[in-house]
Amino acid sequence: MTKHDNLIGGKWLPSNTYSENRNPSNTDDVVGLYAQGSVDDVDAAVTAARKAAPGWAAATPQTRHDLLEAVGRKLAERAEEYGRLLSREEGKTLAEGIGETMRAAQVFKFFAGEALRVTGDMQASVRPDIDVEVTREPVGVIGLITPWNFPIAIPAWKAAPALAYGNCVVLKPADLTLGCAHVIATLLDECGCPPGVFNLVMGRGSVVGEAIVTHPDVDAVSFTGSVATGSHIAEVCGRLKRKCQLEMGGKNPMVVLDDADLDVAVSACLNGTFFSTGQRCTASSRMIVQAGIHDAFVEKLQTAMLALKVGDALDPATQIGPVVDEKQLSSNLAYVDLARKEGAKVIGGERLELAVPGYFQAPALFLETTNSMRINREEIFGPCGSVIKVADFEEAITVANDTEFGLSAGICTTSLKHARDFKRRARAGMVMVNLPTAGVDFHVPFGGTRGSSFGPREQGRYAAEFFTTVKTSYLFAG
Ligand code: NDP
Repeated sequence: MTKHDNLIGGKWLPSNTYSENRNPSNTDDVVGLYAQGSVDDVDAAVTAARKAAPGWAAATPQTRHDLLEAVGRKLAERAEEYGRLLSREEGKTLAEGIGETMRAAQVFKFFAGEALRVTGDMQASVRPDIDVEVTREPVGVIGLITPWNFPIAIPAWKAAPALAYGNCVVLKPADLTLGCAHVIATLLDECGCPPGVFNLVMGRGSVVGEAIVTHPDVDAVSFTGSVATGSHIAEVCGRLKRKCQLEMGGKNPMVVLDDADLDVAVSACLNGTFFSTGQRCTASSRMIVQAGIHDAFVEKLQTAMLALKVGDALDPATQIGPVVDEKQLSSNLAYVDLARKEGAKVIGGERLELAVPGYFQAPALFLETTNSMRINREEIFGPCGSVIKVADFEEAITVANDTEFGLSAGICTTSLKHARDFKRRARAGMVMVNLPTAGVDFHVPFGGTRGSSFGPREQGRYAAEFFTTVKTSYLFAG
């Protein structure tokens, strides 16, 4: 079994311990062995990044462009191979795995272009003979902490802008999906990334993640994951006065009005709620459905949901892959029980035993629910969706906004007036009309409001807000 090492200061360094990465579609299948880093490894990686920082900050935009462009090209060329690895270690279907790898390639190519477009402002001072210049500079050494649910896209959308804007990086990926992060590190190394500019330290969040967040020489932390870990990181960064960017959970509403196209609404909800096994922070977990269309919508969605094929992520016929691990599956099943206890009518949601050992769960629909139930307040992060019946548009928008989260919000309607109203009044960072709440473009901002996100947005040109710092220079021309 191949051992995969950490990349620190341009060297692949072995570790005393390696973790087994297992396939959630077949737990007998070990994907690989991956180094478990230590606090000392983090210290070495941060030291290497700090040493490399002045050189990378001074590298020409062309140099940064060429590195990111080359990584993007290699990801695209080998999308099939890496997509297969992704599906094998995370459990999303092969089509989704390849699609996510292509997304990572697009992100690298986008930020290759952005490296050439770092702009500033030149202004006349309010005082005579003085010029004022506002320029963007790298932040320095950035710790990136990523989750398992988008194991290649999220490391890409944090690492690519960090490098494009001249920062050095220490990446700690989720312990469940180390293969994809290792691919990114390998490609950066192969494409000539200077030693120390990009470092990979794999290992547990409580050890490696904590050591990155608290290291005195880290300038900023970008994190995606749970609310609990994100809140902890925000507290530490606040105390240490370092920049932080958090992407956390969602409890995203999808409103279906009486005037919606039924097929469009069912398709958007089926995709948004259940695809990628519901393991998306943008999943449509609360379907808020107007009374007039409610019964027809539920009947059609239920039929479509029950027809979804759950199975091995690598089987081309599979539409819903396994849940990522036993812990997440147990948590999902506990929410299915809770739904019953809270008085919902539950369709599906049981654990499935297939020919090979894996973490399979039938998708679940919770009917006759209210927005105050815990199943409608807490992020489940599995293939589970609730239906909440409402009387009219006003009640729909009130229920949609009645949540501590604010990531994505959707509406299915043929009314321009309601679509426009919803776009303005939805308390969310992203709004979808006649589209699933999940599924976004790579070149525009991603992020939410309230409990979902903290700090500047990720992706697109807005990524510069987090990954650069602004300097204002005054020059007296005498
Ligand atoms: P975590 O927040 O624990 O993990 C996210 C990342 O943070 C991982 O790399 C993890 O490492 C790391 N980490 C954990 N503890 C620390 C720490 N003290 N300091 C620094 N880094 C740390 O989420 P889980 O993977 O445990 O998932 C739990 C729940 O979180 C899910 O059920 C879901 O609700 C939510 N979630 C949300 C995501 C989103 O996209 N918004 C993505 C993933 C999960 P390690 O994996 O090694 O523990």
